[in-house]
Amino acid sequence: MAGVVVVFDFDKTIIDIDSDNWVVDELGATDLFNQLLPTMFWNSLMDRMMKELHAQGKTIEDIEDVLKRVPIHPRVVPAIKTAHSLGCDLRVVSDANLFFIETILNHLGIRDCFTEINTNPSYVDEDGRLRIFPFHDFHSSSHGCNLCPPNMCKGKIIERIQASFAKEGQKRIIYLGDGSGDFCPMSKLKEVDYAMPRKNFPVWDLISKNPELIRAEIHEWTDGNELEPVMLNLIKKITFQDSVQLLSVDCKFETIPMAVHEPLRPALPVNQ
Ligand SMILES: [Mg+2]
Ligand SMILES: [Zn+2]
Repeated sequence: MAGVVVVFDFDKTIIDIDSDNWVVDELGATDLFNQLLPTMFWNSLMDRMMKELHAQGKTIEDIEDVLKRVPIHPRVVPAIKTAHSLGCDLRVVSDANLFFIETILNHLGIRDCFTEINTNPSYVDEDGRLRIFPFHDFHSSSHGCNLCPPNMCKGKIIERIQASFAKEGQKRIIYLGDGSGDFCPMSKLKEVDYAMPRKNFPVWDLISKNPELIRAEIHEWTDGNELEPVMLNLIKKITFQDSVQLLSVDCKFETIPMAVHEPLRPALPVNQ
């Protein structure tokens, strides 16, 4: 089903918690994080926290061990594997960072299910410290969206994905997310797409208050128990609709040559 692109937020969508908070809390740096949060952008703060943890002697292996223990609902990995096996194009759009996401997806054995991970870049420097950078370099220019944090507008990423369809043919998007940063990308979806906001989470509240800004059909979910059937039913629905459309296109093609070869054949009255 290459005509279906499933876009996943990561924190509190694929995994059950926020990976940034998880690493900071598990490595005992919560107080410093809370102290600095009012003074820094989240993305810059995470880079700073990695510096602090490195100075305290925490290694990359310590961070990896914490990431491998991240809580995830037991139905999420099977749901992702099924969507992938059905031929859907799966992508991640996340305000976490590449190191956290790849470590977790590799650990879960589902990294190869995804064709694309759009997130804040990160790398381990020569001192063994994890560096985290903004997806959008807001020091040089603004992305121009006032709904989103300065380092990332997920709506811009969805628009880039939509623009790529022009070359690859018509596709439909299913977008799953929970956070306020998922409202902008959901507002970019078209009538043929599907928004899957997590119920009673910030994106769901924003949609409830501004339903007129969402053109896509909305299907809420509460946890992995619901995520799996809701997402797989939408994939099946799109597959069915696309096959019906293909069938009707085939029928039209069959009638054209007949009309060309037998132009003088009189039309038969209906009901005979
Ligand atoms: Mg999230
Ligand atoms: Zn935006």
